[in-house]
Amino acid sequence: IITVEHASKTFPNGVAALQDVNVTVCKSEVVVIIGPSGSGKSTLLRCLNGLEEIDSGHITIDDIRLNGNKKNRDIIRQEVGMVFQSFNLFPHLTVLDNVNLAQKLVRKRDDKEATDTSMDLLNKVGLGDRAASYPSQLSGGQQQRVAIARALAMHPKVMLFDEATSALDPEMIGEVLEVMRALAKDGMTMVLVTHEMGFAREVGDRIIFMEHGQVIESATAEAFFENPGEERTRAFLSQIL
Ligand code: ATP
Ligand code: MG
Repeated sequence: IITVEHASKTFPNGVAALQDVNVTVCKSEVVVIIGPSGSGKSTLLRCLNGLEEIDSGHITIDDIRLNGNKKNRDIIRQEVGMVFQSFNLFPHLTVLDNVNLAQKLVRKRDDKEATDTSMDLLNKVGLGDRAASYPSQLSGGQQQRVAIARALAMHPKVMLFDEATSALDPEMIGEVLEVMRALAKDGMTMVLVTHEMGFAREVGDRIIFMEHGQVIESATAEAFFENPGEERTRAFLSQIL
């Protein structure tokens, strides 16, 4: 459902954040990207939903090519949900209105239709009883679950998670991972960046290791952790495990 071919991106400051990256993600696959700080993980995710543009190469999602064409980029943004480390909820809107907003503006759903979808998803992430709360009244883990519900409300074909649990207190990480685990089980196609290696191994169908903007290794979760093929992968894993 996602193909990235020979994608490269250099920022104006000269940093080559992506160098000839090739990645394929199949429908319902969960791909986990790991790698040291600055290796290009976030840049790759941002390119996948059109927040950044690649300089060369091709990205195709669900047969739509991201080619600098604004119309295609807008379509892809609707198909691809993204969850960030910082939850980015609107502080002046209730939980329900946060989840309703894009449905009404972008999907043109009326209030009832949007609210039905939102309540269904809020119940799924365990927050049906907090619909009238404001983000500041929720814990970090709860806010992140609202952010996930908001992304899901657009019925995306792909979900991207960029360190969705990194900003959370340890006791709240589990509840967010639980929501992500349920999504994976439901067959959602997911690409995620995480430092939670146990989780990566558990839900990841495939692990990609990046360094200096390059994909160094891509393997099934089991092969990756049991028997990595590349010396640089082994060095990285020995530092963090
Ligand atoms: P981390 O694990 O710290 O989040 P990352 O793997 O997500 O790192 P990126 O954020 O993709 O790394 O950054 C890759 C490289 O590109 C880094 O050297 C970073 O400094 C640089 N970079 C990222 N965004 C920009 C930008 N907007 N302008 C210039 N350089 C950037
Ligand atoms: Mg990052």
